[in-house]
Amino acid sequence: MNCKRKALFLDRDGVININHGYVHTPEKFEFINGIFELVRLAVKFHYLVIVITNQAGIGRGYYSEDQFHLLTKWMCDQFLLHGAKIESVYYCPFHPEHGVGIYKNESYDRKPSPGMILKAAREYDLNLFDSVLVGDNETDIQAGQVAGVGCNILYQPAPIHPISSANFHVVHDLSQILSFFTEGLQHFQQQRVTR
Ligand SMILES: [Mg+2]
Repeated sequence: MNCKRKALFLDRDGVININHGYVHTPEKFEFINGIFELVRLAVKFHYLVIVITNQAGIGRGYYSEDQFHLLTKWMCDQFLLHGAKIESVYYCPFHPEHGVGIYKNESYDRKPSPGMILKAAREYDLNLFDSVLVGDNETDIQAGQVAGVGCNILYQPAPIHPISSANFHVVHDLSQILSFFTEGLQHFQQQRVTR
């Protein structure tokens, strides 16, 4: 029997909050409709909710790691106030071209690479095939697929161009994801894609 835990991986900008571009203050942090309900339901179904976010704004010098941590604390508190628990937040501050100083670096953590997901899997002893990932960018999906996440969901509130979805799911509203949990994940799992 597989006793490992499972996770709901969430990208941040464009999934948790509206992506206004390098958001780093509570004033600019606008929660997306349905995100609290999604996290509440995932926790109810025994998923650890883990945020994985590229934060090249740190690398570019737009805001500091301290500012990022302050905002993260505030964000997690807002979830708790809504009865929803974020277990952990992983972030990647590096950018291979636009990073400044120590932040100008290739990183295996930067999506589409799977480093943050694999790190979380080690630290929380996760079964990735039984886990779910939600992102608003194809690079999020690629990271999930390469890591072996069983169910990858692209959230596209306003699809700009038709997108192929043979190996991932596409939703236009976060409430569409609720059925993934209530109906049982086995209906939605996909095979690992190797690249
Ligand atoms: Mg995003």
